[in-house]
Amino acid sequence: RKFIFVTGGVMSGLGKGITAASTGRLLKNAGFDVTAVKIDPYLNVDAGTMNPYEHGEVYVLKDGAEVDLDLGNYERFLGIDMTADHNITTGKTYQHVIQKERDGDYLGKTVQIIPHVTEDIKRRIREAAEGTDVCIVEVGGTVGDIESMPFLEALRQFASEEDDEDVLFTHVTLVPYSKNGEQKTKPTQHSVKELRSIGLQPDILVGRADNKLDPETKTKIAQFCDVPDAAVFSNPDVPDIYHVPLMVEEEGLDEYVMERLEIDDESLPKADR
Ligand code: ADP
Repeated sequence: RKFIFVTGGVMSGLGKGITAASTGRLLKNAGFDVTAVKIDPYLNVDAGTMNPYEHGEVYVLKDGAEVDLDLGNYERFLGIDMTADHNITTGKTYQHVIQKERDGDYLGKTVQIIPHVTEDIKRRIREAAEGTDVCIVEVGGTVGDIESMPFLEALRQFASEEDDEDVLFTHVTLVPYSKNGEQKTKPTQHSVKELRSIGLQPDILVGRADNKLDPETKTKIAQFCDVPDAAVFSNPDVPDIYHVPLMVEEEGLDEYVMERLEIDDESLPKADR
């Protein structure tokens, strides 16, 4: 089973969810069974009690789970039905760990973020991925936020427990323009530095900008972030988010991902090729 972890840098609302959903869509088009998990690093157990003026309307899944609107994008892009298990929040994880502690399940041990909370996060990801070929996991928020730390640590552990070709990290960052119209890579460099400081090296970088990334911008990002030029992709503004999968396909995102994860048509059951 393959896992694609999608993190975001510089600021939120960049299009991390859409990038994650688009990657999933391309793998689905290639014949793979794809699911998604959204991590929301807030203490709310679910989105049901959140003010819709602040957060957008709550999205209700088929099992009645009240979740973030993003999960609707995954359902539509991937053509799947998600359940409460596909949304991991800090509140949900802590509530479970604290209940286990009250029940005496930790047998007198000191209960800690590492390993108890991180183990619970990893378990949830593995369970949500069961029965599929590829699981896309989006970490909400921005790298460097205190709230996302336990999740990123869990992903670091997760990656070291799995084979290299089974886990891929995509980092989505902002590529702003300077006043003289140049694409600036410094925010991306800083956010990758932040990611590396917690032990995560991105395999793929996706730059959100008004336009496509220039070849020089891609080379610069590749050099500073220690990835090949071919691992840097553009996600420019488009009038309709359903164009995003086609746009990243044009740059060869699907081929790059499949090569990195060592999967192709041959990995599929014959009936699905
Ligand atoms: P994040 O997950 O980083 O918070 P989202 O994927 O939820 O971001 O996207 C934030 C907003 O930006 C959404 O309203 C989404 O429709 C929009 N968006 C994302 N990608 C693009 C794009 N390439 N062009 C235009 N709008 C986009």
